Amino acid sequence: MAVRSRTDLIVLHCSATRAGQAVTAAQIRDWHLARGFSDIGYHRVIRRDGTVEAGRPLDAVGAHVAGHNARSVGVCLVGGLDDRTGAPADTFTPAQWTALRALVGELVARYPGARVLGHRDLSPDLDGDGVVEPREWLKSCPCFDARAWAWREGFPV
Ligand SMILES: [Zn+2]
Repeated sequence: MAVRSRTDLIVLHCSATRAGQAVTAAQIRDWHLARGFSDIGYHRVIRRDGTVEAGRPLDAVGAHVAGHNARSVGVCLVGGLDDRTGAPADTFTPAQWTALRALVGELVARYPGARVLGHRDLSPDLDGDGVVEPREWLKSCPCFDARAWAWREGFPV
């Protein structure tokens, strides 16, 4: 797996699954393998209970945001869809917010100069680098305003 030479962006994602679904990194890895990826696309997964799971090695090139994988690390929060309607929604648990704050703090320290934003803040780059996601997902992921969150937490945006 290729190693990144730079890390400018910390990109937040959601799994686009209903709030009641207790998805794990192993499940997401299976979905991504089924889509033809060599491994799970994200570097870290935050489960509903706040457990942080490893995805790809932190310094490996991920497969989570078309056109920006060579310069970004990808974090996925499990959830993002309303249980009843299936519509994009901020469904994240207090444990997930606590874990996200700690994790992004570690990443910001590891990658000085990197900015925090959400997947939807990056326009899709149709350069064929292997990531094709449903249009609706691209529009809403991670289902909350990642930059506003990062700003409130004092992280670089
Ligand atoms: Zn995403």
